[in-house]
Amino acid sequence: MTENSLRLEGQVALVTGGARGIGRAIATRLAQGGAKVGIVDLAEAGAGTAQEIAEATGVATTFFKADISKEAEAKAAVAAVEEALGPVDILVNNAGITRDGLILVMDEAAWDAVLAVNLKGAFLMSKAVLRGMVRRRHGSIVSISSVVARRGNAGQVNYSAAKAGLIGLTKSLAREVASRNIRVNAVAPGYIETEMTAALDEKARNALINQIPLGQIGSPQQVAEVVAFLASQEASYITGAVVPVDGGLGI
Ligand code: NAP
Repeated sequence: MTENSLRLEGQVALVTGGARGIGRAIATRLAQGGAKVGIVDLAEAGAGTAQEIAEATGVATTFFKADISKEAEAKAAVAAVEEALGPVDILVNNAGITRDGLILVMDEAAWDAVLAVNLKGAFLMSKAVLRGMVRRRHGSIVSISSVVARRGNAGQVNYSAAKAGLIGLTKSLAREVASRNIRVNAVAPGYIETEMTAALDEKARNALINQIPLGQIGSPQQVAEVVAFLASQEASYITGAVVPVDGGLGI
């Protein structure tokens, strides 16, 4: 598949957490497909990312700083992106955080923070884009879940619960809005090469790799390819799906 074979030209995509990591790869891939891209992120670095993507691909981009776990900020982010680029056709709920710890040492704040960003943030952002999408009878939402939603992971009861919740949200919302020609899907990555995995020592890294049938850690680009496909018209008959991108870890 060539970069431009996906039908994304003229589309406006909003990517939360697009300043870095997987979100940055998704924003880049959508722009390479011809979509205009709005990055919504807490990190100011999102402004530089948006600028770099615009220079590399020639599409219009914009950045809006917002905490997507707060309703007023989520709404303001959608309004700002729509003012800069036009109505949002594609929403990627990618922003996520971890606050790991075994349950007996996990405090309420760690539970609340992870649920607020990973799950409530996706609810608020989806709601904020949907009014327009329903009116226009067109739209695609892709949320980034995780392999741990199905497998669980010791030390991540908050994160696994949030990522599993995202799958429930995806399937329910897919049913709610299918009649309005809006598709809602999720991607469930396994271990992906990010700052987190780069910090592992060699022993921990090898132990991780040994669990993965395809024998390697994934790249943000490998996740971005699947997100771009689900967001595009090529996936026009796919809704309510949860696509693993995990090298077989979740088998
Ligand atoms: P990352 O490098 O930590 O980037 C996440 C971005 O989201 C950061 O720029 C962060 O800003 C932003 N963000 C955090 N809270 C936010 C909020 N309340 N409002 C707006 N933006 C916010 O993460 P990543 O590793 O690329 O992961 C991206 C997504 O994939 C997450 O949902 C993650 O759970 C999921 N995932 C990752 C892996 C993996 O192996 N990395 C595996 C499975 C699933 P700050 O820097 O200011 O916090």
